Amino acid sequence: MPTLLEELSRVKTYEYTAEDVREFEALHDEIRALKAERNAVIVAHNYYRPEILKIADFVGDSLELALMAAKVKDADVICFCGVHFMAETAKILNPGRTVLLPNLLAGCQLADAAPAEDLAARIEELRRDFPDLAVVSYVNTTAAVKALSDIICTSANAGKVVASLPNRNILFVPDRNLANHVAEQVPDKNIIAWEGFCYVHQQITPEEIGRIRANDPELEILVHPECRPDVAKLADAVLSTSGMVRYAKECSATRFLVVTECGLSDRLAMEVPDKQFVKGCKLCTFMKVTSLEDVRDSLARMRYAIEVPEEVRVPAERALRRMFEVTEGKPGPATC
Ligand code: SF4
Repeated sequence: MPTLLEELSRVKTYEYTAEDVREFEALHDEIRALKAERNAVIVAHNYYRPEILKIADFVGDSLELALMAAKVKDADVICFCGVHFMAETAKILNPGRTVLLPNLLAGCQLADAAPAEDLAARIEELRRDFPDLAVVSYVNTTAAVKALSDIICTSANAGKVVASLPNRNILFVPDRNLANHVAEQVPDKNIIAWEGFCYVHQQITPEEIGRIRANDPELEILVHPECRPDVAKLADAVLSTSGMVRYAKECSATRFLVVTECGLSDRLAMEVPDKQFVKGCKLCTFMKVTSLEDVRDSLARMRYAIEVPEEVRVPAERALRRMFEVTEGKPGPATC
């Protein structure tokens, strides 16, 4: 078994000293004791800081974390190391559990791009022209937006979800790049994109990826569908973050360019030490704002508990469960 110092020394986003790692180990001990006292589980998104991933019971993308949260039965508390909409999703699916978000600054600029009242007005307007309009919302949306949606999707299953609907006209909320990717996968649908984007993935340019590939033509390029279409066109595979993890583990290629938020390359560097991961990534400040101290304080003080009013939770849960029916609760494929 590698030590924590050995594992964290493979990470490229941060340069950890031996002193940092000793502090992390002490905090991990405190967090383990609090977890037992509170009967809690810790789940963490792939983009979180490596020292938090190492104390989590489960690490995954938003679909995997939603599935995981829905299944928690034995624990009383879910400490959610993700961003606000993810903790809300956990509460929607598992209202009997206490869901804690350790740092309230962990929001999401993409989710904020679609306020529920604006969406309600847009649906009303579009239904005049398209009476069969269905609203498909990416999981990166607030609970109030999910409540207005017919069905939810993630980056791992968006094409499959849209293809499952009988409706031809689809309002796809809030990511225009993912909407574009879905329109290519399901060409018989009329996809009307909400004009939101993730500021992290939007910063990555085709010129940047082209330069890296020109210097190293053998790299296998994995791109997240929140990236611009002209970046996605350069990919060997367009995948969700957990799709990238499975692809990197199962594929015979040994060197990859991982085009998404930088946390994913750090996770891969720790979990797949015999392969090489070149970074074509950007940092999300929302995903990096939470510290190990925040996780400890969250469990110690039971803060910050996420609440979703029943009149929002019930329709939001219906839209989420429809997604699970379509995907049978399974993540998408990740073939090489
Ligand atoms: S990476 Fe983009 S979509 Fe994900 S939390 Fe950050 S801002 Fe939101």
